[in-house]
Amino acid sequence: MPEFAEVPAAEQLLFEVTDLKQWVYCPRVLFYRYCAPELRPLTDLMRAGIRSHADETGREERRSLRSYGLEAGERAFDIGLRSAALGLRGRLDLAIAVPSRSQATEAIVVEYKDSERPAGPHFKLQLAAYALLLEATWSIPVRRGFFYSIPLRQSEPLAITPRLRAQVGQAVTAMQAMVHGERMPGAPTSRRPCIACEFRRFCNDVV
Ligand code: SF4
Repeated sequence: MPEFAEVPAAEQLLFEVTDLKQWVYCPRVLFYRYCAPELRPLTDLMRAGIRSHADETGREERRSLRSYGLEAGERAFDIGLRSAALGLRGRLDLAIAVPSRSQATEAIVVEYKDSERPAGPHFKLQLAAYALLLEATWSIPVRRGFFYSIPLRQSEPLAITPRLRAQVGQAVTAMQAMVHGERMPGAPTSRRPCIACEFRRFCNDVV
């Protein structure tokens, strides 16, 4: 079992939005990240994902807003967002103020994804978190978002519902409790996530 790291106080602990995706996938991954951070390598898969998102920003600048069903909008790329109240921080691929920042009636969040599959619950929670962060930062309501599939060159809409918003808060609260209690969560019911997991050698109960 690895040595535990000292975790930041509650008011200093801001989770990455991408942590929410991991949390749905397997909560234990987050335990390793925050309570034993020296264990996590940056895998080749993660590096490839970072590169493909950077490339997509260049293509997005040339793409029409019709990809999102919009006639007009002002785009902002790769925006750093953080909120102590939400306990979150992250970098959003694309935000669109409709029709412009100065006259906006709504803002839209867009995340690029490398998959051709429809977005699962883990991606939806992540996009909802970006919506909450953007609302807090821009003070513009965010009611919807899109996933943009890089391989398919298609967008997939997502309504930012009250239920999704509540799920973000519940997940952050549970993640904070896990980190501060230094309690390792149980393994996921399905062992599929474990097959290619970089922490597999530390999870003696799943091998
Ligand atoms: S090996 Fe399985 S249980 Fe352990 S962290 Fe990875 S996904 Fe979670």
